[in-house]
Amino acid sequence: MNARRNLVVGNWKLHGTLAGNHGLLLQLITNLKGLNAIDFAVCLPYVYLFQAQQLLAGSNILWGSQNVSQYDEGAYTSCISAAMIAEFGCRFVILAHSERRMLRLEGHEVTAQRLLRALEGGLTPIYCVGEAQAERDAGIAEDAVKKQVLNMLHSLDDDAFVRAKQCNMVVAYEPVWAIGTGQHASPQQAQSMHAYIRQLIATRDPAFAQRVRIIYGGSLSADNAYAMLEMPDIDGALLGRSALVAESFTEICRIA
Ligand code: PEP
Repeated sequence: MNARRNLVVGNWKLHGTLAGNHGLLLQLITNLKGLNAIDFAVCLPYVYLFQAQQLLAGSNILWGSQNVSQYDEGAYTSCISAAMIAEFGCRFVILAHSERRMLRLEGHEVTAQRLLRALEGGLTPIYCVGEAQAERDAGIAEDAVKKQVLNMLHSLDDDAFVRAKQCNMVVAYEPVWAIGTGQHASPQQAQSMHAYIRQLIATRDPAFAQRVRIIYGGSLSADNAYAMLEMPDIDGALLGRSALVAESFTEICRIA
């Protein structure tokens, strides 16, 4: 445990229906009412942000999107800007998720632009980093994560870095091999990487490194959450599958 306020975020990915969301969100509102020691949020598909705003406004559950365009406006078919997302009351935006980086070939340059747009738009980025299985097997997990964290830090000029600090930007450590596989990192593996990420951030700003929330994602469930969340540098969780079941999400929030 540490002085940072824990944060639990659900990444709904490509899941949801209007009727199903309605039930899930109402259940979460009821379950999480009065739980004020931590922050929690759901990041939904864009098309459900209006529904989230209608249902969650006034509750203690925050919400956000799963990406944002690198463009502000113009002839960019299908893109969604930070200003549009902000209009729907979003606090958070997930960036650089490995499913975007790998499957949709979103590279560092695009992600860096998206990060800047998110910060300019007043959103709080949840910036994902994490090594692939082959990188861990080859003993270069830290090198891979270092590259991603430094890329992220270098993409922030001084003004953007001030914004990142003001909005309490979040970093998510998500080992790619743990996402959706049922094979989570051990608490020691995760703690060690979180401490390393904090050290890397300290090279830019030691004070921010102490207060930035670094959350863990990758097959976290109510069964393994306690051991993970009691680690000193793990400040919460980014949940995929566990976020789609009200009982699991609630239980993990209670543990956090
Ligand atoms: C994720 O995709 O961000 C994630 C953590 O998924 P899961 O919890 O299903 O591994």
